[in-house]
Amino acid sequence: MATIKELRCPVCGRSYSAGEVEYTCPVCGDVGTLEVIYDYEALRTQLDRDGLRSNNEHSMWRYKALLPIESGAKVPPLRVGMTPLYDTTRAAYALGLRQVWLKDDGQNPTGSLKDRASAMVVARAMEQDITTVSTASTGNAAAALSGIGASVDMNIIIFVPASAPEAKIAQLLVYGATVLLIEDTYDVAFDLCAQMCLSEGWYCRNTGMNPYTVEGKKTVAFEIAEQLNWNVPDVVMVGVGDGNIIAGVYKGFYDLFQLGWIERIPRLIGVQAQGSSALVHAWENNIKPEDMKPMPAETIADSISAGVPRDRAKALRAVRETQGAMIAVPDDEIIAAIPELARLTGVFGEPSCTAVYAGAKRAVQSGLLDKNESVLLLMTGNGLKDIRRAQQSVAHGLRVQPNLQSIRQALGIG
Ligand SMILES: [Zn+2]
Repeated sequence: MATIKELRCPVCGRSYSAGEVEYTCPVCGDVGTLEVIYDYEALRTQLDRDGLRSNNEHSMWRYKALLPIESGAKVPPLRVGMTPLYDTTRAAYALGLRQVWLKDDGQNPTGSLKDRASAMVVARAMEQDITTVSTASTGNAAAALSGIGASVDMNIIIFVPASAPEAKIAQLLVYGATVLLIEDTYDVAFDLCAQMCLSEGWYCRNTGMNPYTVEGKKTVAFEIAEQLNWNVPDVVMVGVGDGNIIAGVYKGFYDLFQLGWIERIPRLIGVQAQGSSALVHAWENNIKPEDMKPMPAETIADSISAGVPRDRAKALRAVRETQGAMIAVPDDEIIAAIPELARLTGVFGEPSCTAVYAGAKRAVQSGLLDKNESVLLLMTGNGLKDIRRAQQSVAHGLRVQPNLQSIRQALGIG
């Protein structure tokens, strides 16, 4: 286990010991989402990246020595992580960029990157003999917690906005979670979940609030670095709602940089939907995370819909410290990108991912991306999660009579 040196608040800079505080900074409140800081000096002497060659674990637990869990601790059995990274020449050509990679985290067991965070949180709950874990979610985090929880018979209680896509709600029920459909927004569901966790003693997986979700999500950056032989991309683009994934990507590269395993941290560009762009607004107007006000959150990309981005402090720091940016794309471009990206790459992403592709297009046009840069687009959720939006983006199939003549006619070869 990597020894935790401190839990540090990104807003006020105060640090706490690991057992001292469970969730956010007691002084800053919910904006002070704590960061897990290790004893990097010690880790540098204990570990080296070439040691991974002999590591036969092909999942996120490959990096157990850099995670907040004992080396011998039990972990959930589902295979999370070690998702494929594709070099996509046709997408690169279409975007007008030298090199474009896709990291397909839609191939995780419940279909999204959130499995990394849930596996981490459930593993920590198992270590402490906790039997109930709860979360609020726009859908994917809940599915991840429900699935990973089912694999170890953990009691899971979910707070989800009643407007979440049906397929996502069905997924929770299939895994046997207790599902509370809150007749309000995700932000309201989040606060209700937090209150119930504190009063009932359930372990709270809420994004940002729980410092260890980022520790799970950071493994995607470890994989990107290792899969590219430690030569990291110039730019990594990530869909942003709460900001927890971009915080995780930053933290992963930060850890590796502290260890001396990579030479630099890639420039991070966060992409939001125009109708839910609180962080873009803060970025463009130089608003401090602690001064951000709730903003509207209306977008078809439900996974990145958040009026009060919970990990706003870390998300803004991630783009600031890497000379990155926050950009917004409208819903019609997100929908149009669903089939466009799938046809160029064979990867079917949900709207939060195709927002990233649409964002890359805009970033090339505006000069934010240079054509000579190598860019990785992080695909965080499987397209099968939201079939209704996918259906809106494509024409109907060809209806034909069951004979060869009709088929030829329909194909225009008759
Ligand atoms: Zn603080």
